[in-house]
Amino acid sequence: MVPQMHQPVKLQQKVLEGRRPGPHLLITGGVHGDEFEPMVAIRQLMRAVDPKLLSGKLTLVPVANESAYGNLHRCGADGLDLARTFPGCPEGSVTEQTAAVVSRLIRSADYYIDLHTGGTTLSVSPLAGYVLHSVPEVLEKQREMARAFNLPVVWGTSPDRNTSSLSVARDANIPAIYAEYLGSAVCHPEGIEAYVEGCLNVMGLVGMIDHQVHSSRVEHTVEDARPQSGYMQTKNPAPIDGYFQAQVVLGQRVTAGDLLGVVSDELGDVCEEVRFTQTGLVLVLRTFPRVSQGDGLGVVLELET
Ligand SMILES: [Zn+2]
Repeated sequence: MVPQMHQPVKLQQKVLEGRRPGPHLLITGGVHGDEFEPMVAIRQLMRAVDPKLLSGKLTLVPVANESAYGNLHRCGADGLDLARTFPGCPEGSVTEQTAAVVSRLIRSADYYIDLHTGGTTLSVSPLAGYVLHSVPEVLEKQREMARAFNLPVVWGTSPDRNTSSLSVARDANIPAIYAEYLGSAVCHPEGIEAYVEGCLNVMGLVGMIDHQVHSSRVEHTVEDARPQSGYMQTKNPAPIDGYFQAQVVLGQRVTAGDLLGVVSDELGDVCEEVRFTQTGLVLVLRTFPRVSQGDGLGVVLELET
C-alpha cells in the first residue's frame, strides 16, 4: 500500500440550522494563522446564536487555515499565503487544498463575511471592506453589510485581485465583506466584541435574526477604484533590510511628505527615512520592527477633506 503523504484537508466548522427558512451566511476566521480576534469571536457566535430564533443557516469556521494556525504563522506549512492562493486546487499542497475547500463553502453561501486582523506584523484601523463589484445589486448589498458591520472605516476597493476569498465570492456574485481589527499578535477584547456585534448586525440586516444596529460608529466611507487599492502588504515599502521605527501612530492624520518612519541597520550608521506620499489617515502600520526590503510599512486612507 502506498503511504498517504497527508490527510485531505477538512474544515472544522459548526453549522446552525434555523427553525425558519432564510439565507445561508458563512463566516470565516483564521484565513491567516496569526489572527486571533476572529477565531474567538466566531466561537462566541456559536454560543450567542439560538437556532430557535434563527432564520436560515449559519456556517461558522473559526480557523479556516489550520495548517497556518498549527504553524503559528500567517502562512501554511507549504509557505503559501491562503489569501493569495484562492480558488485553490483539490490535489495541490495543503494551502491549495484548503483554498479549494473554503472556495466550495463560499460558493454554497448566500452571504459571506471573512474576518481578519493585521496578524503578527501589522496593525489595522478597524474597518469593514468590500470589492467594488460590477453587479450593482451585489455592490449595494455589500455596502449595506459593511455599514451594518459598524466599524469606524468602510472601505470599498478595486476588484482586481483574483486570489482572495472575496474574489471567489465576487465571481459567484455572492455579497461578501471582510473586516480588519488591529493585530500585532495581540487578541484585543474590544475587537472580539466588535466582531461578534458586527456579525449579529449583518445577520439582522439580511433577516436571519431580530437584531438592529443601535447607533452607527462609521466615521469614514471611502471607495477607491484605482488598481490594487485594497493591497496592504506593499504600500510604502522598506527601502532596506533593517529595524523600522515608526514616527506616527495608527489612525493619525498625515500629509504627503510627513515622516512615516526610519529604517536603520545594525549599528545605526545607515538610517533611511520613509515619507508618506499621500494625505489622509494612517489605516495600516507595520508594528513588527524587523523588516525586509520591500515590506509594506503603512497604508494611508486618502480622505476627501
Ligand atoms: Zn488576514
